[in-house]
Amino acid sequence: MINFNIPPCIGNEYEYVKDAIESHKICGDGKYTKKCHEWMEKRFDAQKVLLTTSGTTALDMALMLSDIQPGDEVIVPSFTFSSTATAPVTVGAKLVFVDIRPDTMNIDENKIEKAITDRTKVIIAMHYAGVSCDMDKIMEIARKHNLIVIEDAAQGVMSTYKGRPLGTIGDLGCYSFHETKNFSMGEGGALVINNSKYNERAEILREKGTNRARFFRGQVDKYTWVDKGGSYLPSELNAAYLWGQLLKADEITEDRMSTWNIYREAFNTLVKNGRLEIQNIPEECTHNAHMFYIKCKDLEDRTNFISYMKENGVGCVFHYVPLHSAPAGIKFGRFDGEDIYTTKESERLVRLPMYYGLSKEDAEYVTETALKYFNE
Ligand SMILES: *Cc1c(COP(=O)(O)O)cnc(C)c1O
Repeated sequence: MINFNIPPCIGNEYEYVKDAIESHKICGDGKYTKKCHEWMEKRFDAQKVLLTTSGTTALDMALMLSDIQPGDEVIVPSFTFSSTATAPVTVGAKLVFVDIRPDTMNIDENKIEKAITDRTKVIIAMHYAGVSCDMDKIMEIARKHNLIVIEDAAQGVMSTYKGRPLGTIGDLGCYSFHETKNFSMGEGGALVINNSKYNERAEILREKGTNRARFFRGQVDKYTWVDKGGSYLPSELNAAYLWGQLLKADEITEDRMSTWNIYREAFNTLVKNGRLEIQNIPEECTHNAHMFYIKCKDLEDRTNFISYMKENGVGCVFHYVPLHSAPAGIKFGRFDGEDIYTTKESERLVRLPMYYGLSKEDAEYVTETALKYFNE
């Protein structure tokens, strides 16, 4: 059986986790957390990065920092993971879903402006499959209407838009290091802060509403409870694991990219013949091979494809069921305009196995099996 995903492990993680244990420092914000922060700040040229317990809590923090008032609106795509929507809902915002572009499955930048009302506060740009949204257009709209832009770059670590790392373009960016993402710490994530005005409050929110971070820097002589907050810092055990991965980030990306390219090559003819579609990578984007998906003719074709692959030992999965049609989506949001692509395109999409260490032989077996299905 070729699994859909296997969590990444390079090998050096054992050494760092062991060292964290033996250093008698396993709670958060120790040396491995600091190493991860510094690595990302340097590599992505980010103003400030804070590790969090998940991509979801990074989004929660970003929305808390946006200072939402009850009744404010947040613009999101409907084709996304639930966390993109739960974060605004948790701070009392109403969701306004906007349709996607079929070529990247990202929010359609040309439909955002029409969805803006005088209650709109935030636009969340989710970079599906690690391929960037049209950030120039989104930033332009946001500046014009004085809105905050949060990038849900959970899938986009190491991807770029016009040479800029995803997560560093909006006001705030969110990464995920869940085991299904390119780089992992089991459960974890990071908040990327691109405007220093959020720095101090972000540290406070992350540390149970206290100014503990300032205390440790010697900027205050005792630490006190000053704001709302949560506990969003991951343990050193998780950070040590991630450190092992970040040190090999290029190797992990290259490995995934070789699988991606095998898939891309194999489907060329079928794409030309119009039998199926694959993802478009706009010219201004580089991607991180987070995902390889194809689009079948319709829902029935996809269902048949997934069971055919399964019968032949290949795990393929689909997602997402559009949020605006889900019970919570109906309760907390509205879809602006017409759902032209969100539902239709989501029903055609299927993801092929993709993980660090997937062998060339296995990738070729996946494509041979898929080609048999599509050529029949
Ligand atoms: C994975 C993911 C998240 C959530 O990340 P977790 O670390 O699992 O909480 C949020 N948004 C998107 C688009 C994701 O793919």
